[in-house]
Amino acid sequence: CPPWTPCHSSGATFSPGIHYIGERTVTDDDTWLTAKMIAIAGDPEYPISWHKMGYENEDTHERDGTGKGAYDVIKIADQPLVRLRAGTDEYEKELCRHFPGKERAVSEWIKTVKEAAAETMVFLVSRAWTPTVQRIWRALLGRNGFKWAGKTTHEVIASLGFSAREEQILCGQHGTTGEAPRDLCFLLHAWVVHHFINGGYFPVGGPMSIVKTLSSTIHKAGGRVFVRAHVERIPVENGEAVGVVLANGDTIKSRMGVISAAGLSATLHHLLSPADVERYMAAEMKFLRQVGGGVSCVCGFVGINGTAEELKLPSSNLWGFPEEATEGHDMDEIIMKYRNNLLDFSVEDGFCFISFLSARDPAYTHLHPDTTSCFIAAEAAPEAYEQLNEALGGAHTERRTKAYKNTKKQLETKLKNLLLKHFPQLEGRITSFDVSTPLSMYHYLKRFASYGLRQTPERFTHTLPRVGTAIRKFYLTGEDLVSGGFIAAVASAMVTATHVLGYTPLDILTGHHLLNDLPNVPQPPTLEQLTQAAKTEAM
Ligand SMILES: Cc1cc2nc3c(=O)[nH]c(=O)nc-3n(C[C@H](O)[C@H](O)[C@H](O)COP(=O)(O)OP(=O)(O)OC[C@H]3O[C@@H](n4cnc5c(N)ncnc54)[C@H](O)[C@@H]3O)c2cc1C
Repeated sequence: CPPWTPCHSSGATFSPGIHYIGERTVTDDDTWLTAKMIAIAGDPEYPISWHKMGYENEDTHERDGTGKGAYDVIKIADQPLVRLRAGTDEYEKELCRHFPGKERAVSEWIKTVKEAAAETMVFLVSRAWTPTVQRIWRALLGRNGFKWAGKTTHEVIASLGFSAREEQILCGQHGTTGEAPRDLCFLLHAWVVHHFINGGYFPVGGPMSIVKTLSSTIHKAGGRVFVRAHVERIPVENGEAVGVVLANGDTIKSRMGVISAAGLSATLHHLLSPADVERYMAAEMKFLRQVGGGVSCVCGFVGINGTAEELKLPSSNLWGFPEEATEGHDMDEIIMKYRNNLLDFSVEDGFCFISFLSARDPAYTHLHPDTTSCFIAAEAAPEAYEQLNEALGGAHTERRTKAYKNTKKQLETKLKNLLLKHFPQLEGRITSFDVSTPLSMYHYLKRFASYGLRQTPERFTHTLPRVGTAIRKFYLTGEDLVSGGFIAAVASAMVTATHVLGYTPLDILTGHHLLNDLPNVPQPPTLEQLTQAAKTEAM
């Protein structure tokens, strides 16, 4: 299953890889882009309703349902909280409150973010084309010659005259990309800020509702979804991908082709043979080595006795920084310091992200009355876990030793203390605490990086990876194709389909694209209609 599907432990439900989704960009027919993409690919029999975060009063914590509260709260040491609320005006107001006298710079920042965010569409679609067409596409359609992809977030922030302390606030949500400002591609940061500027949303019923609507479409169209079906390899014959071989020995042959959503690293290191990689995908391998994998995470899944309302737990996320950045000790240094000392248990403090799924999903209390589920994550340096992995004899659960369990126990204590530091009302309320480490990530995705490839300018200015490959009928999709993030993964699916279905750049420019065409594809019949038709035929 994708990492964002729910997991269950000790009577609670968790959603490891989706805490919030944004992009409430209104399209022509008044729906927002994220919802529109999922709705047109999903089954209308299982519609998704999106719940807005920040529906409680920020001071009294009463659920007033207005959605005017914060969706993200940035807490830097003992400084006043930064509360990001839905709407550009609210965003601007909050920044101005924290940066007195910098009103013009704030307005310039927002203008720059919007300008750069507008280029993400150009970037996304370009992944469908060959490197040469990508270059022409970006040069012609990217306003300012696609320049924002080549800049770091720090460069842009510094050029607008913001201080190190202000940079920390402007990048308070950096954990969504896992890059510190001096490495983070500005195009991506602008996309993230813009993605959430109109608020954070959560699918009612949790991410499973997304799985339900999408898998139903696949089923009705005659496809099948297999879970726990590990693909061992992708055989290539005469330069063409011919299917997949599963770990149980079964082979599924393909007529139309094979699309890998497993990530670039797993695809090149595990699914294709070394000979095929050398012959057909040497450029992708070179790119992978050059760019590398991004940050890892240690996550805590916490079961809590009591409802979110009773415990006054917010629907917003908390981004907690232990130190305030200064000119001599900037955000990059702070991030690296706490990433690198996560396994140093003499250091108690750290950067963390905290969210309460039950506080943002109105369906949760029906499933688990009188309980709350919490997710806490801390960034981890992948190298430390690569070493730990080797020391423990490889990433096989059955071989994980007492030493690994001890390390997990110590991580649990560290995360628990961080949780109680930020939410002391949870003292005595914690009923279960499960920890996942980057080794857990490796177990599922064959990499330590939480969000796949690093999110640097080097990556976003490159023309690889792209959907098509030198192997005929073999395609790439998923977060490594575009960027980390749920909506990026959905967009990558659209881009891959664009390529596979043979759309041309001219089609896209003349409005002939999937967003317009998919709603016109006749819906497959519902189960009821099929049953009715079968009955009629039998009569
Ligand atoms: C801790 C965490 C929190 C996050 N929070 C958010 C958030 O709040 N909002 C947001 O928008 N994004 C969030 N993300 C990012 C988001 O979850 C990912 O970007 C997104 O899931 C990527 O989708 P994908 O389809 O590309 O890859 P995945 O979701 O990783 O799917 C790849 C699939 O391939 C399968 N696979 C791999 N190898 C094989 C094989 N050999 N055989 C069979 N199957 C295989 C895997 O099991 C997996 O199911 C978060 C990520 C993490 C790690």
